[in-house]
Amino acid sequence: MYDYTKIDKKVFLIIKKVISYLGKYVSEETIKEEILKAYAYAKQAHEGQFRHSGDPYIVHPIGATFHLLSLKPDIPTIQACILHDVIEDTDVSLETIKNEFGEEVAFLCAGMEKLSKVRYHGEEREVGSLRKMFVAMAQDLRVVFIKLADRLHNMQTLRYHPKRDKREKIALETLNIYAPIADRLGLYSLKNALEEECFKILEAEAYKKIKKEMAELNESIDSFSKNAEKEIKDVLIDGGIKNFEIDYRVKSIYSIYKKMKRKGYESIKSLYDLFGIRIIVKDVTTCYKALGVIHNYWTPLPNRFKDYIALPKPNGYKSLHTTIIGLLKNYRKQPTEIQIKTYEMKEYSDIGVAAHFEYKERGSKVAHDIGWVKDLKDITESLENQDFMTSIKIDVFKDRIFVFTPKGDSINLPQGSTPVDYAYAIHTELGDHISLAKVSGKVYPLDKELRNGDIIEIIIDKNRNPSPFWLSFVKTAKARDKIKAYLRKDNKYQNRDRGKEIVNKYLQNAGLGILDKDLSILKILDGRENSVDERNFILEQVGNFSLSPGALMRRILKAQNKKIPSTRNKENFGTKENQIKSSEENQEIIIGGEKNIPYKLCYCCRRKIPSKIVAHINSKGIITLHKRDCKILENVNKERLLPAYIKGEETNSITAHINFLFQNKIGVLKEISDILYSMHINVEQISSKKEAEEKTLLSFILEIPDYDYLIVERLIERIKFHFGEMLLDSQVLKIES
Ligand code: MN
Repeated sequence: MYDYTKIDKKVFLIIKKVISYLGKYVSEETIKEEILKAYAYAKQAHEGQFRHSGDPYIVHPIGATFHLLSLKPDIPTIQACILHDVIEDTDVSLETIKNEFGEEVAFLCAGMEKLSKVRYHGEEREVGSLRKMFVAMAQDLRVVFIKLADRLHNMQTLRYHPKRDKREKIALETLNIYAPIADRLGLYSLKNALEEECFKILEAEAYKKIKKEMAELNESIDSFSKNAEKEIKDVLIDGGIKNFEIDYRVKSIYSIYKKMKRKGYESIKSLYDLFGIRIIVKDVTTCYKALGVIHNYWTPLPNRFKDYIALPKPNGYKSLHTTIIGLLKNYRKQPTEIQIKTYEMKEYSDIGVAAHFEYKERGSKVAHDIGWVKDLKDITESLENQDFMTSIKIDVFKDRIFVFTPKGDSINLPQGSTPVDYAYAIHTELGDHISLAKVSGKVYPLDKELRNGDIIEIIIDKNRNPSPFWLSFVKTAKARDKIKAYLRKDNKYQNRDRGKEIVNKYLQNAGLGILDKDLSILKILDGRENSVDERNFILEQVGNFSLSPGALMRRILKAQNKKIPSTRNKENFGTKENQIKSSEENQEIIIGGEKNIPYKLCYCCRRKIPSKIVAHINSKGIITLHKRDCKILENVNKERLLPAYIKGEETNSITAHINFLFQNKIGVLKEISDILYSMHINVEQISSKKEAEEKTLLSFILEIPDYDYLIVERLIERIKFHFGEMLLDSQVLKIES
């Protein structure tokens, strides 16, 4: 029979700790009772099960619960952690847990069970589990806390796992998925502990070496910090700062390793940020005051000062960081990092997002500031697995920048973000119709990386829509997602509007005027009455090309007792007026849909602005107008071109004949027509022909706005992107103006 005394002792230690932070909300008896109840239950349920170490299974959930305590969890979370493997590994059902411990505990256990169902065999599975994990997190962060504590205990006992490759796989997964999640949530102590365990397994030699060096340095770090503490204390008191605490922390072993590797250092002695001093004060004002005192006495290193109070890290971390030279100058030549923060910020820097929880009655906690968790949920819910991995890597773990709206609101973006990312971060509409971006008042290319502190203004043009090209440079998952969504959009209102446009042209051509508000001309068709919904549906069908407008016209004319006109009069089909302004003084150039944009002229058009122009923005934001067939344009990035025209010429149009060869598939026509409509391209004619088996040739005659340079190329790109391998071939037969 196994001796449970050691485990029992640990459980009582847990109870003691919980009372220390929860005692003022919940009676000691209740805490003790609830924890012991879960313990007894789990112990019973796991009876006869053993860990690889040979210990009874219950050491694991209790060990995990012990790690969890740093986050000051509520009672249901503690109970769920103790019970977390019961449903998975024993006969006990979720229903039983619910009856015994209540809804909340059962809910948390169910969350844990969901996560544990996912076994990791390869990249793809990991992604799936990662996704579930994040979704679970968005639902309740407490499940994530338990999962991380669970993982930490498993990592600490991983050495008992008999298979080496399995150990490494688990360590890698922890390093790549769990530790970054802990980091993202600001759970630094958990993150460091997880990384250290991984490091031990994955780089055993390096780990031992650094550990040994640190042990040797320990004494000197200790005496240095004691002396430093005294020196700083005197300086602060002299500077009029009262009521503060000073402590120091040593950089985590894995961070040391990473930095040494990055910098190519041989010894940890080369690191001057091996440890940092923390000054903890009562409020924000005192933080800045203390900083002033420190900077007044010692020399700060330029570029090392960081104000995370004014601009907190994305996970909410706040503090002032500065690095000074000359602390204990007879003792140590290297600069020292000093962090200044309030008690509240210190709590946050230890347990991150867990500090954002507040206790409800009866010892239950709720999060009250988890807006960003919702963002994560949005991301996870809308993305495919493949995309998800990329977006997590990009959004959650990469360095961030802060940029500003013209009103001064700060927007937090991953490094490398472009004006398009910024626009989507603010509002989908803004992204969907972005035409121009200005940074500090100057035009800025849409694909150019934004810098920290940029003030960005977005100018929209309702006629501009997302381009598949954008996918090649946007950095945020949100932008990528929204662009894709736009490109794939199946919009019945768009179809209806398009149907209306088409039918109006046919009606005008037949001399019947245009549709009225009630669509009354569609009311009686084929001898029956259509409801308003049915009339709208007819327009939708015309708009998505499932109903031929010609056939509809025949029915309308029949109902109106009119004759079908024998020839189509092309002049009546569009009402384009080709008014070209010849007077150069009055020429107003519209660039990207906006007036009064300063521009230069390319030498090709120095003498006289030609009528077919396009604007190019260089990396400095300078706009040059070119004629569209200018040689220079052959070598420029096409994404940096903006449509431009002389006011009055925007109604000019050209006709393009394009063929697409498709693998036969129902709905292609409708999807193409949606794309055409969203790009404001009119369809003059469509014909479809069955080629060889399973292949269909679609021929389009399109009416395209003349000023929109490269629109044909963009259209083809977009169709290629949309249909992928289903599109076998595309061909531009001719373009006529
Ligand atoms: Mn477990």
